[in-house]
Amino acid sequence: MKYCFGVDLGGTTVKMGVFQEDGKILDKWEIKTRTENGGEAILPDISKAVLEKIEELHLAKEDILGIGMGVPAPVKEDGIVKNTVNIGWGYKEVKRELEEMTGLKAAIGNDANMAALGELWLGGGMGYQNMILVTLGTGVGGGIIVNGKPLVGSHGSAGEIGHLCVNYEETDRCGCGKTGCLEQYASATGIARLARLRLAKDDAESVLRNAEEISAKTVFDAVKAGDKVAIEIAEKFGKYLGHAFANVAATCDPEIFVIGGGVSKAGEVLFDYMVEPFEEKAFFPNKGTRFGLATLGNDAGICGAAKLVLDM
Ligand code: ZN
Repeated sequence: MKYCFGVDLGGTTVKMGVFQEDGKILDKWEIKTRTENGGEAILPDISKAVLEKIEELHLAKEDILGIGMGVPAPVKEDGIVKNTVNIGWGYKEVKRELEEMTGLKAAIGNDANMAALGELWLGGGMGYQNMILVTLGTGVGGGIIVNGKPLVGSHGSAGEIGHLCVNYEETDRCGCGKTGCLEQYASATGIARLARLRLAKDDAESVLRNAEEISAKTVFDAVKAGDKVAIEIAEKFGKYLGHAFANVAATCDPEIFVIGGGVSKAGEVLFDYMVEPFEEKAFFPNKGTRFGLATLGNDAGICGAAKLVLDM
């Protein structure tokens, strides 16, 4: 049996896992992301954790196929990161440094693409070759899998579905600096924003007016309870998302869209609001594209990173 490591580098923690080549997770754990001093400790910390785990599990180094790692930045196959927002790195040759520190092969990918590859291998996209993962969390992330491989693009930033422009009239700004991005309507914060705008519009009765805090969860709980105002908000969310999916389908022609992230905890009810707008705007060969929920949660990133090694 051969083994590989999957690493998911985030702004506060590094998630790590050891996998058998058949996909079985032998062990998983987390270490802190030390971002101070330009993130200089991050790769040494990860290398140390990997080498210690090899000893702890009594694995033979020649049976380790390599280390896969997802990073929160655009990155291409050369494993060079040019800039990061939240881990302190500027230009960094991540693949080369990690290989030198560990004596193991390394493969680096963008974290959203790794999550998509993970869901394709072991989660909601199992059995498919062409899949799009959309994570509805604080932001909207995306990973596109074409013929079993993540689509990377010329800048390493393919699949950034959250920043498709879906409303040319919008005046509020997205975190990226543009206006009208999908993320402003379909992320957890976007849904809460839609809810606040709707509640401010008139005095229509709604359980949301009594909520301590307006969040995507309170909105979808109210939807499930039949609240009319919450349903209006969900319809707006679903329309923006469904229409964006139709545009993405016309470009990438997936077999399935897999929905993950915190908002996906609302469950199948999400599909009630996005599938109809999708069908309405889908180019005819894309009609009937499947929709499913992600199943790996926070493990998607380490699973995909491990698979990147197996696909090397
Ligand atoms: Zn944006």
